[in-house]
Amino acid sequence: MDDIRSNTHFAGPLNIFLGYEIKFNVRCLALVESVGIWPWKWIEVSRGFYQLSPRMQRAVLLHELGHIYALHQEKRILRFLDALFRPEKFREMCHNQEHDADRFATQLGFGDELCRLYAALKEQDYPGAELYPSLQSRIQRILEA
Ligand SMILES: [Zn+2]
Repeated sequence: MDDIRSNTHFAGPLNIFLGYEIKFNVRCLALVESVGIWPWKWIEVSRGFYQLSPRMQRAVLLHELGHIYALHQEKRILRFLDALFRPEKFREMCHNQEHDADRFATQLGFGDELCRLYAALKEQDYPGAELYPSLQSRIQRILEA
């Protein structure tokens, strides 16, 4: 695998990021999201992704790699019974996964970019948005890291 630290400053057009294919999807609700289950994983980006600065793009891609490396999607699938019968437990796990992915990008030097992005975003209220911690709490956790 490519060395993460040496590649996060790559500034060319992104089609592959640290081994994962990046696909544009006009229906992608988030700026960026990891898709599929191991070992068939890729990253989808929305139009909004291309409005971000190159460093901010890398910050959100590293956040997604944090999810991929920690098998977060697979853990959500394994805990689908929690999603049905203990939704508060499932939501707590999802919030922790978001903070973990933020920490992954922060440890690689991209916490400032994530904080600036979260400060500029508005809280979402689409179905499923409750699985994300508040933007304020994400900023707070990054600053505490
Ligand atoms: Zn995430």
